[in-house]
Amino acid sequence: MTDTTPTTDGAGPLPTGEPWVTHETKPYWDATAEGRLDLPCCTVCDLVIWYPRAICPDCHTSEVEWRTMSGRGTVHSFTITRAGVSRKWREHLPIVVAYVQLEEGPIVLTNIVDVDPATVAIDMAVTAVFHDTGHGNAILRFTATGS
Ligand SMILES: [Zn+2]
Repeated sequence: MTDTTPTTDGAGPLPTGEPWVTHETKPYWDATAEGRLDLPCCTVCDLVIWYPRAICPDCHTSEVEWRTMSGRGTVHSFTITRAGVSRKWREHLPIVVAYVQLEEGPIVLTNIVDVDPATVAIDMAVTAVFHDTGHGNAILRFTATGS
């Protein structure tokens, strides 16, 4: 999970853009630059919080601490986009858009990359990869475990 080199699909790495980094999300983005998935965790009810924020959405405490996740998960749901995207995405079609359930619990909206879209399946094991944005951080995506 430490490889921050942009990976490629058939048409090169998916576009990344520049994330909107706030005081609340800065630890998340800083970790992505180092190839880590760090998320806030509630120290009262133990919820792993996605998306990153300073207050637990379950028990509403601000007693949260940042922990490093395993980077492992499974495909919870997915779709394959074959058309209808903006020009900068068009050359990358088909694109797999998926909900990945992290080993630690949260379900994350993301892309599955570097795999034949026809091989993506519910419950498929996936591992985090990070695509450099060129702005000091990286976009979290997933690929098939072992690929
Ligand atoms: Zn909580």
